Amino acid sequence: MDGICLDHNATTPPLPAVVQAVADCMSRCWANASSSHAPGQQARQRLAAARSSVARLLGCRPAEIVFTSGATEANHAALLGALGREPGRDRLVLGAVEHAGVMRLAQRLQDEGVRVDLIPVRGDGALDLEAARALMGADVALVSVLAANNETGVLMPLGELAALAHGCGAPLHTDATQWTGKLPFRFQDCGADLVSLSAHKLHGPKGVGALLVRQGLQWPALLAGSQERGRRGGTENLPGIAGFAAAAEALLAGPPLAERAAATAALRDALERELLARLPGTRVYGAACPRLPNTSYLRFGTLPAELVLARLERVGLVAAAGSACSSGGSQPSHVLLAMGVPRDEALCAVRLSLGATATRAEVGRVVARLGDALGPLLAEAARTACPPPDTHWRAP
Ligand code: PMP
Repeated sequence: MDGICLDHNATTPPLPAVVQAVADCMSRCWANASSSHAPGQQARQRLAAARSSVARLLGCRPAEIVFTSGATEANHAALLGALGREPGRDRLVLGAVEHAGVMRLAQRLQDEGVRVDLIPVRGDGALDLEAARALMGADVALVSVLAANNETGVLMPLGELAALAHGCGAPLHTDATQWTGKLPFRFQDCGADLVSLSAHKLHGPKGVGALLVRQGLQWPALLAGSQERGRRGGTENLPGIAGFAAAAEALLAGPPLAERAAATAALRDALERELLARLPGTRVYGAACPRLPNTSYLRFGTLPAELVLARLERVGLVAAAGSACSSGGSQPSHVLLAMGVPRDEALCAVRLSLGATATRAEVGRVVARLGDALGPLLAEAARTACPPPDTHWRAP
């Protein structure tokens, strides 16, 4: 049976052009881009060309890109860089459903005495903008909210958040790791002053990403050094960056992202519609909100996610119980808990995230396999939950 990956929010397969760019760079352009000799200059030119490609994809100036080791590093640079920049601005305002890496960093900072406030979400997964407004103030160092939640796929209102943050003189940072590559994105128009992203979510290599820093904004380096114009020390990962650029070029050369997103959303909607019809008790989280086109976060009755995932693997489907960065334990998703979902229900949630090459036929196969794998379990669960009719009924 052919395997179908339904976990493209965890990572995406590198395109052949990406693999080739990485290999080519490693074998033919391995000089240090900071060296002044000819091979170094060649590496520097390749770095500049890669920066231009990535800038074109992201609608930013090449000089606004600081290449990093990925989104985790970029998020750290954004949050840690905000502290101590301006006297009196020492409070962070973050979304309550940020990526696991940001939530952990926020906890660490709080333990060290930094004031961190979380903007709650509503039951449907949307950010509570009224609560966000109430958290603004002249002491805010940074407002940081995910552009698109990695579990529910729910999109966050960046324009409104930018107005709120800027209204109190604070910069807005957004982690757009799940957004970029799936939906059109232009740094110049998104409202945020800082953006994190990662190449491996858009068919590039792992271990490379970027922090976009709006022109004119001075942002302290997380890693000291002279590279990236003093904004990120460490010899540039040129093979990774060249692979990132190859992924950007491929996206730019393909059909417009808005068109692809609409096609993927139609597949995702068909998947949900058919699962809801076939498997009673299926519930989709965040469905009432604008969402990433490929993401479906759901539960099948009260079947525990662990059981569902094991059964899916038996029929050649791989999926996840939420974020790959926080899975591996049996903890319920902090995203669902923040939405007010009870703990035992949250432990049943499974994320299905379609890939860019998904087709209608593939969705049909997914529904059939899911139906076969889970239908009997759901029927059994329903039977044991409702006691059978009393066969020992006696006439009064
Ligand atoms: N932010 C979000 C929203 C993510 O989905 C991920 C990857 N799971 C990250 C950050 C971390 O990215 P990286 O692997 O590049 O550090």
